[in-house]
Amino acid sequence: MKTILVTGGAGFIGSHLCDRLIKEGNNVICLDNFFTGDKENILHLINHPMFELVRHDITMPYFAEVDEIYNLACPASPVHYQYNPIKTIKTSVMGSINMLGLAKRTRAKILQASTSEVYGDPTVHPQPESYWGNVNPLGPRSCYDEGKRCAESLFMNYYQQNKVKIKIIRIFNTYGPRMHPNDGRVVSNFIVQALQNKDITIYGNGTQTRSFQYIDDLVEGMIRMMNTSDDITGPVNIGNPDEYRIIDLAEKIIKLTGSKSKLVFLPLPADDPTQRRPDITLAGKLLNGWKPSFDLDQGLELTIRYFRKKLNID
Ligand code: NAD
Ligand code: UDP
Repeated sequence: MKTILVTGGAGFIGSHLCDRLIKEGNNVICLDNFFTGDKENILHLINHPMFELVRHDITMPYFAEVDEIYNLACPASPVHYQYNPIKTIKTSVMGSINMLGLAKRTRAKILQASTSEVYGDPTVHPQPESYWGNVNPLGPRSCYDEGKRCAESLFMNYYQQNKVKIKIIRIFNTYGPRMHPNDGRVVSNFIVQALQNKDITIYGNGTQTRSFQYIDDLVEGMIRMMNTSDDITGPVNIGNPDEYRIIDLAEKIIKLTGSKSKLVFLPLPADDPTQRRPDITLAGKLLNGWKPSFDLDQGLELTIRYFRKKLNID
């Protein structure tokens, strides 16, 4: 039986990962400072004998005997990571140093939840792992993008210098149940607006693209990555290559919810990437043929069902 630490475990992705790790019979320590996380996401696990919840901020050191670490702690929505940019950088940089130090001491394997944002506003499309990216180091997104890029560098250096067993995945836009209704990201915003028949807020003209991955596909990819042999460090892209314009996502959500919402167009935030789509060839090779199994309609149906219940809408 393994003891597995999940930082950011009360968040959207972290809580699904905790569920899966508990189901597979592991001891799970869920560590979270509850900045964007929610106890409700893990309420059903609280009394489980193999589950332990710890309120802790990863910018401070943490000590425990663990076999594996999934480092997910970091606000992920632009609204939240830009709320306190210095704290966001500290979480990625000091948080990674603390968790890598823990991995070094306990000889644990450690996986970093990196992001497609390391590619910035990409000029190569779709994005393979070999692409170095196009990030504005001074813009409003840089606290997140550069923090995550620095974290990748730290992981690589701990691997090369200290032989820590590292895994880096670059996660592309992921959605599903347990996203916070006020999370601010596009899928949750549009679903909540559509279910309440409120205006759907499109930033810019809606021609920018994203590729949306359902949460269960990501969790499967993460666990497969953790279980690869020690010589495989990544980075490996984990995402769904089906690419959509934001305006088409809005129309789809209106249709699936039967909503009366209208589209409204608001200013495009600075440095908003114009296109994004993962090249997942490497993930297929290294992760036993891993590929997404949920298409957008299926994933949206499940997510809409969740929000209907959460918001008491029938
Ligand atoms: P989320 O905001 O729901 O979860 C982040 C969790 O980390 C929250 O529970 C929050 O309270 C916790 N946290 C934040 N700062 C912390 C700190 N200093 N110490 C301890 N806990 C802290 O977001 P998510 O979508 O679940 O994202 C999880 C991870 O995956 C993040 O690292 C994010 O960068 C990465 N990621 C997510 C996506 C996506 O599309 N969802 C894409 C790329 C990368
Ligand atoms: N977006 C939008 N309306 C919203 C929220 C987001 O049009 O209410 C756009 C946003 O400008 C971006 C895309 O949707 O082009 C994805 O935004 P999100 O914040 O979900 O993720 P990220 O930009 O980090 O990929």
